[in-house]
Amino acid sequence: EHIANQIAAGEVVERPASVVKELVENSIDAGSTRIDVSVYEGGLQTIRVTDNGGGIDPDDMETAFYRHATSKIENGRDLFEITSLGFRGEALPSIAAVSKVRLVSSNKDDGRGREIVIEGGKLIRHEDITASQGTDFTVEELFYNTPARLKYMKTIQTELGHISDAIYRMALSHPDIAFTLRHNGNMLLQTIGNGDLVQVIAAIYGTSAAKTMLPVNGENLDYKISGFVSRPDFTRANRNGISTIINGRYIRNYGLNQALLKAYHTLLPINRFPLAVLQLEMHPSLVDVNVHPAKLEVRFSKEAELYAFVEEIVHAALRQEVL
Ligand code: ADP
Ligand code: MG
Repeated sequence: EHIANQIAAGEVVERPASVVKELVENSIDAGSTRIDVSVYEGGLQTIRVTDNGGGIDPDDMETAFYRHATSKIENGRDLFEITSLGFRGEALPSIAAVSKVRLVSSNKDDGRGREIVIEGGKLIRHEDITASQGTDFTVEELFYNTPARLKYMKTIQTELGHISDAIYRMALSHPDIAFTLRHNGNMLLQTIGNGDLVQVIAAIYGTSAAKTMLPVNGENLDYKISGFVSRPDFTRANRNGISTIINGRYIRNYGLNQALLKAYHTLLPINRFPLAVLQLEMHPSLVDVNVHPAKLEVRFSKEAELYAFVEEIVHAALRQEVL
């Protein structure tokens, strides 16, 4: 019995980091306060994500692997006001189609849970077992049945780099969640999960970088901005240290980056860039997250106003430092 197929898998599952991102997003959506990620050989051998979230009802576990079996959109209005990270119901079937998956989950604290094993989209086993509340998801031998795709994988170090980047983004977006990332058993990242964004910045970029950060705060009728930007004398060679997060979702938006850089106008040497983590909150109707399947690109309905506000607020934070 094939409950998932490979057809759309290519769109969602490009490389090990895509699997990590989808699984961790599901853990975040489930309300987890701890998410532990352990990968082996750049995630090509094993990816394991364990969380302490709400878990999956044993009766729903098989259904979760059917395409578009999302539990997150309940009515038509939700589509326009998406607050969860996932909403397409494509990740689990896509992952299960091209790997060997073991899922253990329990949605109760009575120790009753269920285990399900799927290989290449084929249901191998499902049985009731004891498990604590939360979800434990293991993905092995990614792309074992799609050799053409496997051939495109880069070195273990490159794949691991993409996985780390994905975890960094989610940790920066959720300082209230305790994350760990391990590779071949070695701890690469650990955040405390106490809501302190500076601690997350220190864990990712180092304590000396974290010490240069200036707080950013501002609010108007439409937008709330918080976060940290580096002092103008602390610069980086590229833009990779600029993170923008909208309503808990890490996104990329050229206009937002430009607005931030404009605030640093004349303060930065040529070809140098700041470290910055900007958390923006706005009503979901002001941002369209549905423009790309990877859900990284967004569109704002009042972009000129937003960019002007970002520039103003960051500029105010930097000017306070200079005075
Ligand atoms: P989506 O996230 O778009 O809803 P997925 O294919 O990623 O679709 O997941 C399918 C469903 O499986 C989710 O809607 C959710 O109900 C359930 N699920 C997956 N992972 C978890 C998890 N870690 N904790 C709780 N529920 C989960
Ligand atoms: Mg999902």
